Amino acid sequence: MSLEVSICDSCEEVLAPPRLKCPECRKEMRIEEVDGAGVIITHTTVHIVPEGFQAPIMVGLVKLDAGGQVLARSDIELETGMRVDVEGLEDGTHRILKMDRVSGS
Ligand SMILES: [Zn+2]
Repeated sequence: MSLEVSICDSCEEVLAPPRLKCPECRKEMRIEEVDGAGVIITHTTVHIVPEGFQAPIMVGLVKLDAGGQVLARSDIELETGMRVDVEGLEDGTHRILKMDRVSGS
């Protein structure tokens, strides 16, 4: 799955969902489509969630193969080291990143 990210050429920060300005160095970021494949570095379950979400939410920090780390949510139980595919979604109200386990891992 492809994922839209913003990349800072100055400090190499990679963010998804993309932003126009780098939060680290305030430079303009370039927007690029990268492969959403990556691996779970750490994960947690959120029981108290913002309005419009249904608890609990599984959230994981994903190290993308393309570089950078993104936070994404999941409907499935996460494990550290698990291979996932991250996808950007619009659900009408929220811009979210969602991931799924890569089959065969
Ligand atoms: Zn930067």
